[in-house]
Amino acid sequence: MSIVVVGSVALDSVETPSGKVENALGGSATYFSVSASFFTNDIGLVAVVGKDFPKENIDFLKSRGIDLEGLEIAEGKTFHWSGRYGMSLSGAETLSTKLNVFEKFSPKVPEKYKATKYLFLANINPELQMDVLKQIKNAKLVVCDTMNLWISQRREQLLETIKHVDILIINDEEARQLTGEKKVDMSARKILDYGPKRVIIKKGEHGVMTLSDSTYFSAPAYPLKSVFDPTGAGDTFAGGFMGYLASTDEVSETNIRKAMIYGTVMASFNVEDFSLNRQRRLTKDEIESRFAEMRSITEF
Ligand code: AMP
Repeated sequence: MSIVVVGSVALDSVETPSGKVENALGGSATYFSVSASFFTNDIGLVAVVGKDFPKENIDFLKSRGIDLEGLEIAEGKTFHWSGRYGMSLSGAETLSTKLNVFEKFSPKVPEKYKATKYLFLANINPELQMDVLKQIKNAKLVVCDTMNLWISQRREQLLETIKHVDILIINDEEARQLTGEKKVDMSARKILDYGPKRVIIKKGEHGVMTLSDSTYFSAPAYPLKSVFDPTGAGDTFAGGFMGYLASTDEVSETNIRKAMIYGTVMASFNVEDFSLNRQRRLTKDEIESRFAEMRSITEF
């Protein structure tokens, strides 16, 4: 495997100013792996769903070339998240989180995933992220995401997980919540003290920045005319970011910057429709042409 991801595979009910969907395919690991699948076909997914998870969702993931040996189908109901976005579309208000089958989930990483070079700990309980991390030998790059729920309810476990990762990807609000710093740049600096070699902070419509001990890089968001549903933008960003890194197998500063632009491009497509609907009809040509546009709007 070139990329392994652990995270949620979910059924989401989402309301935005543009409309709403019930029990649509979602989950951090889902958005991540589908996005990464535009760059590499060697992705293993570790997660759990319930017996109610629709077969067409499984078929869709398979059609993207994602390996599902690590996806357990357990007795019970699939993880369900329900959220709402206001007019500003900045940040979801979580209406309910039903962990369901995730409550008793104990991840067993398949043998063929264990030598993966790239590991993504998508948003899920940090104890599960750590369980998976312990089963992977010598990954070249370990990247982690999280959310406000775990920062407030599992802070100690989260800080323990973060100690062992190379890159933390987090949004600006979460960075403030985690560090207590008001300024995003200051919070990024403080996160480096927690252990990661690099932090990437997603700032929604204001783009993305990254900081390491010796480097700083910032890029705008793609200038979209309208946003339909921001759900999964962060995970889709991470999928494009890691998918590109894994496909080139080069973790240099220059390549990380390029990977962040591919992440930005993937996220910009994802928010154009509900669930993964835009990714379902996305083409490699569209990705490359938006990547070229990003180059032209940032060049001077
Ligand atoms: P994002 O918009 O990138 O933050 O991710 C949205 C996805 O995160 C949705 O599809 C949800 O199913 C998933 N999600 C929401 N809350 C949680 C949680 N507590 N643990 C894991 N995944 C979650």
